[in-house]
Amino acid sequence: MVSNTLIQFAYLVAAVCFILGLRLLSSPKSAPRGNLLAAVGMAIAVISTLLVSGIVNWTIIAAGVAVGAVIGAVLALRIQMTAMPQMVALLNGFGGAASALVASAEFLTGEVAPTSVVSFAIVASVLVGSLTLTGSIIAFAKLQELMRGAPIVYPGQRFVNAVIGAGAIALCVATVMDPTNLQTYAGVVGVALVLGITLVIPIGGADMPVVIALLNSYSGIAAGATGFVLDNSALVVSGALVGASGLILTKIMCDAMNRSLANVLFGAFGAVEEGAAAASGEQGSVKGYTPEDAAVIFSNASSVIVVPGYGMAVAQAQHAVRELADVLTEKGIRVDFAIHPVAGRMPGHMNVLLAEADVPYDQLKEMEEINSSFQEADVALVIGANDVVNPSARSEPSSPIYGMPILDVDKSRHVFVLKRSMNPGFAGVQNPLFFLENTMMIFGDAKQTVLKLVESVKSY
Ligand code: NDP
Repeated sequence: MVSNTLIQFAYLVAAVCFILGLRLLSSPKSAPRGNLLAAVGMAIAVISTLLVSGIVNWTIIAAGVAVGAVIGAVLALRIQMTAMPQMVALLNGFGGAASALVASAEFLTGEVAPTSVVSFAIVASVLVGSLTLTGSIIAFAKLQELMRGAPIVYPGQRFVNAVIGAGAIALCVATVMDPTNLQTYAGVVGVALVLGITLVIPIGGADMPVVIALLNSYSGIAAGATGFVLDNSALVVSGALVGASGLILTKIMCDAMNRSLANVLFGAFGAVEEGAAAASGEQGSVKGYTPEDAAVIFSNASSVIVVPGYGMAVAQAQHAVRELADVLTEKGIRVDFAIHPVAGRMPGHMNVLLAEADVPYDQLKEMEEINSSFQEADVALVIGANDVVNPSARSEPSSPIYGMPILDVDKSRHVFVLKRSMNPGFAGVQNPLFFLENTMMIFGDAKQTVLKLVESVKSY
């Protein structure tokens, strides 16, 4: 078999590919190359590991690859683009579970010395991996709308969580001290599985992006810990990279929501949602417009800011939106796209969709960059966005999304909102934007509405 030095060298090459791949992911233009490079790194790491002598049972590996490939291929072929966020949430959970299982195998079959690095690593992997699994399943259920998105809270919840957390730590310490004790090990698994559920159910509404980023980070931490268990440097490095980048993403998402991590995790933000939704229900009347009427205003505008949201993903309207932007630009109208960091259901969701439709990168503007431009814009075109343009986040302290920075579309001369009904967005709160004097609603599926707008603007 191949010498250990060669294997370690291959792992080093793989690690360099991962790091450079991540670096390239920082710009949309270089991101495809980054993805490819990281995939090459992963292929090198996997092949090198298979060449390590003594660890491979080829029959089991082949069976695992076959079963995994079939499940993966079926999922990839059948999953709708709109269900990608929940798929990503689930994959985070599977990553955590895989790490916990590998660490458990080592615990159950190996001779683990008390208080050794390996005993610490096994316990860390099992704890973090197991809670990532159940936490991710809850996140999946919320995104798939199998569960209500609103926080699930009950009296004494923080105390109960603190007791479960303290119990988990005590069991971890006992297992590290005595790695032959199967009871405490089973206790760590059981309590971690419960902890994953109890930590995620009180988080709801608009705070879910933070949870998803955090679970992503946890899956990396569990993998890194398993790397120590197996003494596999490629796994340590890749786990550390996922863990660190997930934490950075968590910080970005917290900043986007203008919240501290502690507030998201323990604040049960959004719990007053139903009351607030009801309170803001009586807002007056809305103005319904047709695409034909709207075309008049569009054609006389000199600047339009498009604000995409989750509804654009549901309607798969990105190509139609690009067509509209082209038609407007041909008429000499300036078109920009305003991207809110938590628009859609996964980080970078809108960027991915608009890139797929070949919208030029320089037309995509981040919130801080574009917000001051709304007051000079003739038209803000809100396509299936709701929470990220809800002015009550600025002005209504009782609102569950109060404090979250929003795109200031209400400051534009005209606001067109494309959605199917008066239903609220993910956070479950009504949006006063819809009732403002300068707001016009165009009800219907976003793709159909945009296509009609394209025709009307063309023929105007
Ligand atoms: P929202 O979820 O607030 O609103 C989406 C709107 O799209 C709905 O009001 C819906 O209204 C409309 N819609 C749905 N389907 C269609 C369709 N076919 N045609 C037209 N409209 C449609 O979206 P935002 O992007 O504004 O906000 C994202 C929310 O999701 C935030 O609360 C965020 O915190 C949360 N979130 C974000 C994640 C992320 O990582 N980005 C992850 C998890 C949650 P109607 O039904 O009336 O059509």
